[in-house]
Amino acid sequence: MKLYGGVEAGGTKWVCAVGDGPDGLRELVTFPTTTPDETLGRAAAFFAGHTDLAAVGVGSFGPIDREAGRITTTPKPGWADIDVVAPLARSLQVPVAFDTDVNAAALGEGRWGAAEGLHTFWYITVGTGIGGGLVADGRLVHGVVHPEIGHMRIPHDPARDPFAGVCPFHGDCFEGLASGNAIRARWGSPGEELAADARVWELEAEYLAYGVVNVVCAASPQCVILGGGVMKEPALLPLVRARVRELLAGYVSEPEIVLPALGDRSGVLGAIELACSIATRS
Ligand code: ZN
Repeated sequence: MKLYGGVEAGGTKWVCAVGDGPDGLRELVTFPTTTPDETLGRAAAFFAGHTDLAAVGVGSFGPIDREAGRITTTPKPGWADIDVVAPLARSLQVPVAFDTDVNAAALGEGRWGAAEGLHTFWYITVGTGIGGGLVADGRLVHGVVHPEIGHMRIPHDPARDPFAGVCPFHGDCFEGLASGNAIRARWGSPGEELAADARVWELEAEYLAYGVVNVVCAASPQCVILGGGVMKEPALLPLVRARVRELLAGYVSEPEIVLPALGDRSGVLGAIELACSIATRS
């Protein structure tokens, strides 16, 4: 039986796994993202212990150049213009598939999770930043680079929320207002310490609902999956659903808005799915 390697290459940690799906994970390791050499070396060493791999998939933090197999203009120190695919392919001698972390998570949820059997859906991660992957008519949308819904502009009422936003490029874009980093900067504490403060989650739901409404209107999805650390606050999802319903106002058909069925494993499982698809192609 063929096994696949998957890497969820995040800005703070890498998750590497070997297997063929959620019920067939043979081994999974997590380690911190340090220097590119050290981090890629640890991933290669993990997979080198498995001689039966057909391919490896990598879902990476970005922005990335998918064709070139590299991370491009990230502000993360030491990681700009770093080749990811070439060193792994060289040391492992198997095909290596490469995409964004959110695109991988979308694939994982589409194959085994909340979007199983659906043809058009968004996977949105609301963590330190905000990113989104779109599967439309059964295919991941890449465009010139990849969707950057975190940088959409959304309504911002400075009378209600005088916070200027945290995006270094745009200030109060979607990510600038609604990411985990924005919550921490606006309220002075990370979201997980603000559970008791209803104002935090009402405002967060307002911004997330604007973002969701925009991507719903743009792509007509069957489902929107909201993942990432910020969504772990249980009060948030029902508030977002209710506000999306109000904003769509009965005109646009309302998709299901759900949490990832694969939990924190959407990304690494999606990377395994990336590996499956490149192994089938080659
Ligand atoms: Zn921005």
